[in-house]
Amino acid sequence: MEILHVSAECYPMAKAGGLGDVVGALPKYQCKAGHFAKVVMPMYRTKFLYNNQWVIDFKGHAYLGEQYFEFTIIKEKTNKLGFDLYLVDINGLLDRENIYGYSDDPQRFISFQIAVLTWLNSWEHRPDVVHVHDYHAGLIPFMVKNCHQFKKLAFVKTVLTIHNAQYQGNIGWDKHHYIPAYDQYKWGDLDWNNNINPLASAIKCAWQVTTVSKSYMDELRFKSNGLEALFEYEKGKCSGILNGIDNEVWNPETDHYLFNNYSIKGVTVGKKKNKKKICELYGLDETLPLIVFIGRLVGEKAADILPSVFKNVLYHQRGKACFLMLGSGDKQIETELFNITSNYPGLYNTYIGYDEALSHQLYAAADFLLMPSRVEPCGLNQMYALRYGTIPMVRSTGGLKDTVTDMGDWEGFGIRFNNATVDDIAHSIYRATDVYKNTTHITWMRKYMMNIDHSWESVVDAYTKVYL
Ligand code: ADP
Repeated sequence: MEILHVSAECYPMAKAGGLGDVVGALPKYQCKAGHFAKVVMPMYRTKFLYNNQWVIDFKGHAYLGEQYFEFTIIKEKTNKLGFDLYLVDINGLLDRENIYGYSDDPQRFISFQIAVLTWLNSWEHRPDVVHVHDYHAGLIPFMVKNCHQFKKLAFVKTVLTIHNAQYQGNIGWDKHHYIPAYDQYKWGDLDWNNNINPLASAIKCAWQVTTVSKSYMDELRFKSNGLEALFEYEKGKCSGILNGIDNEVWNPETDHYLFNNYSIKGVTVGKKKNKKKICELYGLDETLPLIVFIGRLVGEKAADILPSVFKNVLYHQRGKACFLMLGSGDKQIETELFNITSNYPGLYNTYIGYDEALSHQLYAAADFLLMPSRVEPCGLNQMYALRYGTIPMVRSTGGLKDTVTDMGDWEGFGIRFNNATVDDIAHSIYRATDVYKNTTHITWMRKYMMNIDHSWESVVDAYTKVYL
């Protein structure tokens, strides 16, 4: 099958979170399975852009409302990612350093989608599937079905994958002229609660809808930032497919970011060496269990309660564990987390920012990974942790529920808790420091976790079934 993925992120070109990881890996494994998968995304000014070679594939023009724009589609020359990567360049709109966060994001992503469809219109054939990811590409199913200028594409199957339903891309109806002409009576397919809602529109118009875990799919019908009734209504075409991880990128035996590579057999010594180095670099006590957090500092990840958690635990369970935080996001949370550092030398440190290499090093060095998320559609961090023999401590929600069992259960290998509260998390940290003393149990869990298969190879077939 020929599958065109349309996304705002794709690792290693541009990544802000799990969406980038998934779109950087799924097409590669679809190609390995014999499909012809490609990715098209905006051309941001990232390092990857400058460090690679590109050829021009297409030049075109289109309108965003009354505004005429020209665009160029370039293609990575060597196919080094294992799939064809296409970038859409629209001068002044997409060629920026960051992926998101600009006041004109609606204009940026709508013109991106119009450019993609204009390009597709020029193909002599049609792809079997256009697979759109999250709201940034969410108007495509509507435009393909209804916009007069894309009539040629009307029968192309569109599949939507929801990586995060919190973000829906709402825009006011005053911007409706951005969407190319369609029969006005179809407006209902764009609308949700008196706004143009790209995610809701994609759920209505896509041929099939998937989310990134089964539990998250179930949760969306009860809690999805206002779309509950829509998920209930459309449940017949919705399914949950757990994400995989790219075992070539995330492999402790070959990961070039690590201070020391290790296999399942050598996990105890290997992790110890990585931990020693990280503890030296961040001034932490290597004899204590090392608990890390890696992620966006936002409410969804329950990052807002982390400062209270650490203050509580560092005071009441002083000297039982040390902590290292890697993240960026909400400025107030960043400051609060950073401010704790000076009070607890040797026990607590932070790295505020985004650092891909450090994230790999922490998965390898840590004894435990804390994920108290309020919402977690799938969660990749815990799966990376499993692969690196790091025990996940997770709130029982979404994909975390589908991938982590509690060590108190038969053959359990993680720590689970029910509430994103200081008490529940502090209790889990107590359980972690307690089990850490039992080296036999820790070693058994590490080896068990590292043997779990979350590879994309095991997931690709599930997507193929959705496309058929
Ligand atoms: P989400 O997509 O909601 O942010 P996921 O768990 O699906 O959460 O994916 C998070 C990805 O982003 C993981 O690859 C994680 O290692 C990475 N990540 C998050 N924050 C940082 C950071 N500050 N530095 C490096 N990597 C990060």
